[in-house]
Amino acid sequence: MVPPAAPPKRGHARRGEGQWALGYREPLNPNERSKKDDNPLNVRARIENIYAHGGFDSIDPADLRGRFRWYGLYTQRKPGIDGGRTAVLEPEELDDRYFMMRVRVDGGALTTEQLRVIGEISELYARDTADITDRQNIQLHWVRIEDVPTIWQKLEAVGLSTTEACGDCPRVILGSPVAGIHRDEIIDGSWAVDEIYRRYIGDPAFSNLPRKFKTAISGMQDIVHEINDVAFVGVDHPEHGPGFDVWVGGGLSTNPMLAKRLGAWVPLDEVPEVWAGIVSIFRDYGYRRLRHRARIKFLVADWGPERFREVLETEYLKRPLVDGPAPVAQAAPDDHVGVHEQKDGRFFVGGAPIAGRVSGSTLVEVAKAAERAGSGRVRLTPLQKLLVLDVPAAEVESLTTDLEKQGLQVNPSPWRRSTLACTGIEFCKLAIVETKRRAADLIAALEDRLADLNAQLETPVTVHINGCPNSCARIQTADIGLKGQIVTDADGNQGEGYQVHLGGGLGLDSGFGRKLRGHKVSAAELNDYVERVVRRFVEQRADGERFAQWAAR
Ligand code: SF4
Repeated sequence: MVPPAAPPKRGHARRGEGQWALGYREPLNPNERSKKDDNPLNVRARIENIYAHGGFDSIDPADLRGRFRWYGLYTQRKPGIDGGRTAVLEPEELDDRYFMMRVRVDGGALTTEQLRVIGEISELYARDTADITDRQNIQLHWVRIEDVPTIWQKLEAVGLSTTEACGDCPRVILGSPVAGIHRDEIIDGSWAVDEIYRRYIGDPAFSNLPRKFKTAISGMQDIVHEINDVAFVGVDHPEHGPGFDVWVGGGLSTNPMLAKRLGAWVPLDEVPEVWAGIVSIFRDYGYRRLRHRARIKFLVADWGPERFREVLETEYLKRPLVDGPAPVAQAAPDDHVGVHEQKDGRFFVGGAPIAGRVSGSTLVEVAKAAERAGSGRVRLTPLQKLLVLDVPAAEVESLTTDLEKQGLQVNPSPWRRSTLACTGIEFCKLAIVETKRRAADLIAALEDRLADLNAQLETPVTVHINGCPNSCARIQTADIGLKGQIVTDADGNQGEGYQVHLGGGLGLDSGFGRKLRGHKVSAAELNDYVERVVRRFVEQRADGERFAQWAAR
């Protein structure tokens, strides 16, 4: 049964949004045309057989700016082009001849061998660059097209890949970094993460979606489930026991929306099937006319969760789902930093780099240190941190020393712990401002100026920094969200700065920060501004009041 199209909004003429299920099979924009002309997964053979031999100039522009993404490859920003000029340049003028390569790490799960291989690849082919992203990937930079097939061989030899790390397809699956070992976990979702990857990633049936598709699966609330396209969150059903509550339609960017619950409970072994049903709805009914309305959140917003669930059950699963309870909201996603005892009596040790910035040589050294401590497993987190699992009690102290030597602080300041930053102008073509270096500068300043408040910030104030409005660093859900833009200072000079969003959050404080009119700060004033806001919060807050509550007053 095909449900009727969503009713047109008042004052808008009814017209199709390019939904395949409603018969719109002809591409309505160049991106859709490119995907229809050639399945983007086919570009791999051209990279291996043609472009890696012919060099950068041999690459078909339609592949370079489109299909390469399906293998985690974007051209990086040409060095020396500042944000102020970005608006007047054509995209190809911003292209460097080098690539960012995103290595997908589903569930953030790596063996020490895999970590070492990524680190060695970085040293050999990516000028020792490596960033841990807030989607548990590792991004390398300065990659040459000539080296891509060799890098794939090395990654695939240890079970890693870059397939569908970017593009209009199912991206890396977020998973709890402490799945299977945390004492508070309701259920271990690792099997579902692995099984979805095994069955569906690289499957042509799901390689042409209307837009990117982000998944999160966890038996805890540590995977920012409210802002994923689909999320499975651990809940204990009063009759059926541990399983997952299903959420759909969350996402940030320029039109942020929180995911909605379907009110359905799904056992672990059914998660891949339900996931495939939801992705199929998106593929078939998702809006393909306008890129900025193509994420599943717009379909969910128009249909509502009841109708979405009905279509899932009647057309795709051919059976009803079990009703289930909501998870009990917690204060904020757990970052797992520090030393914690596991279910089995061993320990996991979480270290904080600065805003996810590490290096290939750091990753190699961390892999060695973990193995010296008797561990074979590390985890990346959605908060840009790195954990070493399965550490015997006797090894915790020496591992902590080793991690700190590598710049991964196990007892970080509240500022290092709670500041996220996206790639920014250093490498990202869409960026308007600097982010990573600014985060490092801000953290250093706040550690120095606000040391007197450390004991009072039992819950750190979160600061997220974006280089543009796309919100890769989730600014709308931070206590202090900073969206990069060109601002005008008091003397009328234009320069890098940020639009401020105050009081966003997840969990108990689920909601988007308020964007106050004229609330902009120049890069030069940023440290003073954040210091002022935090001092005012600490002075004015009531007992137990969280930042989001205080900011909403
Ligand atoms: Fe690039 Fe903008 Fe995303 Fe930052 S938020 S990584 S600048 S697209």
